[in-house]
Amino acid sequence: VTYGSRQEIDLAGCLLIPGFVESHLHLDITLTNPWERPGRPEPFVSTQETNRTVEGLRKGFTREDIERRAAAALDTAVRHGVTALRAQCHVDSEVGLKHVEALQAVKERLEGKVTVQIVAFPEMGLQRDPGACDLIREAFRMGADVMGGAPNVDRMADGTVDVQGHINMALDLAMEADVDLDIHVDHELTQNAELDDLEVVHLAKRVIECGYQGRVAAGHVAALDSAVPDVRAKAIDLITEAGISVVCVPDLCRLGRNDVKHVRRGLPHVKELVAAGVNVACASNNVRDPWRPFGNFNLLEEALVLANGAHMDTVDELNAVLNMCTYNAAEALHLEGYGLDKDCHADMVVLEAPTPSAAIVGQAEKRYVFKDGHLLASNRVVSDLFS
Ligand SMILES: [Zn+2]
Repeated sequence: VTYGSRQEIDLAGCLLIPGFVESHLHLDITLTNPWERPGRPEPFVSTQETNRTVEGLRKGFTREDIERRAAAALDTAVRHGVTALRAQCHVDSEVGLKHVEALQAVKERLEGKVTVQIVAFPEMGLQRDPGACDLIREAFRMGADVMGGAPNVDRMADGTVDVQGHINMALDLAMEADVDLDIHVDHELTQNAELDDLEVVHLAKRVIECGYQGRVAAGHVAALDSAVPDVRAKAIDLITEAGISVVCVPDLCRLGRNDVKHVRRGLPHVKELVAAGVNVACASNNVRDPWRPFGNFNLLEEALVLANGAHMDTVDELNAVLNMCTYNAAEALHLEGYGLDKDCHADMVVLEAPTPSAAIVGQAEKRYVFKDGHLLASNRVVSDLFS
């Protein structure tokens, strides 16, 4: 078979990879920090305090404002070679469906440039905000793709959190709508976590009981790092049996701040997960918002952060880290036709580097970005050295 072409490009010395897949991004709250002056306006205090900041900030959001920031984020992501993205999106009694409407509009407008999946994320919990359940059902009718969740946002007025109740409700809603579940678990570090202290353990057991293996992604899983190796191994066995994808996010800057020695990194022992055969992805999570002042919608940058934090520095480990931003993330999102085989969608990136490790270490430019065979972006670094 011969294929016709509109254009021929010499890719000598470059690396062709399938498009980057951003598997976890809070697209509705992104870019709420000033682009020209990144950095936290105030020092980080705690997760609860940051949640309050976000919930205060969004009172001022209009649909237009969410659309404008989300579209700017997606344009920048495309420039960095992202061809598919899973967007977390607040749904609760306070904001109603405003965020879903905004992201749905942007998703439709940018169809053909980037594939977007919308996660209905109950920012105010499911038990704390019982009205969220019906709003989430409505969000699925409007086009939301995936069920979200996070036990840590379900803190009742008396300060208690029913972790298992939250996980069960989120999974039930996912099964009722026949959608995947993408849930934040073990968002904080604990001391000497026992097996049943780990949220991911309850999640895995419940997924197995319900027969929902392969339909669930777990974000963060940071507390896995607070368990002793034996407990961690048992937890990883359950994650494997439940077919849960683990999405690592750059929590290095958020977590471990109160550790006075042996400061933990907030990453879920990535190498052990990989060795056990768990599907591990790497994502940005938060970009330039109250949670994290960093990020550029650039997965090659997040890959370098992860490689440092997870002690993944051999050539093989760097290959694995690049896969976490491409093939593994695509598997977590269940993208169809992903890859470089001839029957796949032609979502591709040409990196100005000969190998994956050279791309990560050298932070290679994305020379060309293609979506469905269409050239969407070309980038070039220009340097002049004067003697
Ligand atoms: Zn998140």
